[in-house]
Amino acid sequence: MTSTTSRRVGPAAIERRRAKITAEIAALGLPLPGSLVERRTRCGNTGCHCHGDPPQLHGPYLTWTRKVDNKTVTRTLDVAQADALRPLLENSRRLRDLTTELETLALQQVRDNPTQPDP
Ligand SMILES: [Zn+2]
Repeated sequence: MTSTTSRRVGPAAIERRRAKITAEIAALGLPLPGSLVERRTRCGNTGCHCHGDPPQLHGPYLTWTRKVDNKTVTRTLDVAQADALRPLLENSRRLRDLTTELETLALQQVRDNPTQPDP
């Protein structure tokens, strides 16, 4: 163990981490865009219990929400559909995390290169 206050990790450590991340990305299943959201709703019938005091809302309904051409698209799912999509949505979240980590490594590499500007 070396005791150092420096946060410099060095090109070898950056390369080791990059190789680990890209190996995990290569093994990742297909990433489905969007997220699972549980919704409780109020209907248009003012006499319904969802308008009561206290209100008892309808649902919960499982929905898959994603952006398509800058618009939010929502699909209602049954439990089996949600269970099938959950791991694919998790792949997408993991892929974003790994991409962010790769970008952090790239920033470190640029920062540690004296011929490059301070990022
Ligand atoms: Zn209602």
